Amino acid sequence: MEQNEKKLTHNMTWWERMYVPEVFKGMAATLRHIPRKKKTVLYPEARPEHLRPEPERYRGLHRLTKDPQGRVKCVACFMCSTACPADCITIVAQATPEEWTDREKMPAVFEINELRCIFCGYCVEACPEDAIRMDTNITVPVFGRREDFIFDKEQLLSHEPRMDLDADYMSRR
Ligand code: SF4
Ligand code: SF4
Repeated sequence: MEQNEKKLTHNMTWWERMYVPEVFKGMAATLRHIPRKKKTVLYPEARPEHLRPEPERYRGLHRLTKDPQGRVKCVACFMCSTACPADCITIVAQATPEEWTDREKMPAVFEINELRCIFCGYCVEACPEDAIRMDTNITVPVFGRREDFIFDKEQLLSHEPRMDLDADYMSRR
């Protein structure tokens, strides 16, 4: 305790109060680093070489899947949003076109707020239609505005699955 008090009440000398040696020390450190090879990478756009690849079951950014006819697979059942503990999925249902005889509903709005998401994967587990997946391997990019983290239906449909997974693994999903 006494030692701490001593440290706090250390009276700086006149030379120390000039800060000259410290300024030169700081400048020397800066100059030492200037010629060195830059290690900054634009992650996640560019992946540093020393990083290990993500594991097979890595949960990346969400995507919505399509059926063989290229239509959104989601049937707007709200199972995923009900299971979501972070309350970050917003769905507005609408009736399907008359010619869609295999289902009654589809999402008019499907949004995921990736700022609130905790990447638990419950939405994927809860979906009875295999309509939502987290197999894109995409790390959520860093944006400047909050609203850019809310991915809408079109964005979620545009995400592609991770292609380096073997076919057997993909077929089991
Ligand atoms: S991963 Fe979890 S928190 Fe994120 S949307 Fe799905 S259920 Fe919600
Ligand atoms: S993604 Fe799956 S669980 Fe969520 S509303 Fe669509 S069909 Fe239902």
